[in-house]
Amino acid sequence: MRPIQMVDTKTQYLHIKADVDKAIHDVLDTAAYINGKPVQDFAAGLCNYLNVKHTIPCANGTDALQIAMMALGLEPGDEVITPSFTYIATTEVVALLKLTPVFVEVDPTTFCIDPESVRKAITPKTKAIVPVHLYGHAAPMEEIMKIANEFNLFVIEDNAQAIGCDYSFSDGTVKKTGTIGTIGATSFYPSKNLGAYGDGGAIFTNDDSLAAKMKMIANHGQQKRYYHEVVGCNSRLDSIQAAILNIKLAHLDKYNQARQSVAAFYNNAFANHSKIITPFIAPYSSHVYHQYTLQIKNADRNALSEYLAQHKIPSMIYYPVPGHKQEMFASFGLPQIHLAVTDELTDCVISLPVHTEMEVEQLQYITKHVLNFINQ
Ligand SMILES: *Cc1c(COP(=O)(O)O)cnc(C)c1O
Repeated sequence: MRPIQMVDTKTQYLHIKADVDKAIHDVLDTAAYINGKPVQDFAAGLCNYLNVKHTIPCANGTDALQIAMMALGLEPGDEVITPSFTYIATTEVVALLKLTPVFVEVDPTTFCIDPESVRKAITPKTKAIVPVHLYGHAAPMEEIMKIANEFNLFVIEDNAQAIGCDYSFSDGTVKKTGTIGTIGATSFYPSKNLGAYGDGGAIFTNDDSLAAKMKMIANHGQQKRYYHEVVGCNSRLDSIQAAILNIKLAHLDKYNQARQSVAAFYNNAFANHSKIITPFIAPYSSHVYHQYTLQIKNADRNALSEYLAQHKIPSMIYYPVPGHKQEMFASFGLPQIHLAVTDELTDCVISLPVHTEMEVEQLQYITKHVLNFINQ
């Protein structure tokens, strides 16, 4: 049995090595390291895959979120509603732009933003909602868009963990996550479902003028070289990463299916266990399992993690401290809030290895050890 890893990008690379190596060498041969043809090809490929009008590649997922918020003309003090139960990047950019993060609850079954909690958090200062498609499951976008339309709010989807996920609306329409809100943002960090071999990110929108603005912001606020219209930043996806991502985009559906097979194995092994809650899939969402996350009830989650580590099985707690309890916000003077669901999930979640290269033998070994511990 191969050693078990949370992600195994090396083995995945070996399957596509010839194509990737050639694509990298083509960039070296042209010497167009910045904004070369692969970057435009990749943007076009993503537009086609996601069925969205504009894709703006950028340096990473955090920049993607930041550029999206910069483009919306939000002003210091404007409130942005986000789940507390997410990766810090989502809320960090809110703080960085001197906007006010307003932390809300998630649904304990899907781990995604709870629309009722969003409704309750709306004030006259609210300008945007940032739903996160956490672990590869879609946030309840139909309800979020309804609330956004009702209160005239922007919606920025944090799609860093869910590229390829499908959202089904009640009228039967199906859209890819990241293409439903005002703007979608994603990351190509190596361990993401569509991962580069370095950093990368992209922003999506169907709005022509927002697309032009975001393109400009990502490029020092210029449309014409050396004529800077607005304060922007420098955020680029380089040609080598784009060339690699072009190859991998063609495999994305297959990669997501491989993750789904891993999840099916785990689900089957842990089905109907009184102390283990397996991931739930809402009727409106598919699941691309960026993470496979269990809730452990009436058993010691941290001890389980240690037990697994002793048996050379990695596991992770995503995330050990929710946003509303992070020290970085202590000086923000945010109102004291109590998020019971978020706190409960923080104490009971554990993510098991899930990636495209897992072997049945590894899965059997992992499930056996989880059950050994839980049943002891
Ligand atoms: C990875 C991630 C990001 C940030 O992406 P980077 O490319 O690492 O900057 C943002 N939000 C979520 C939910 C993520 O998982």
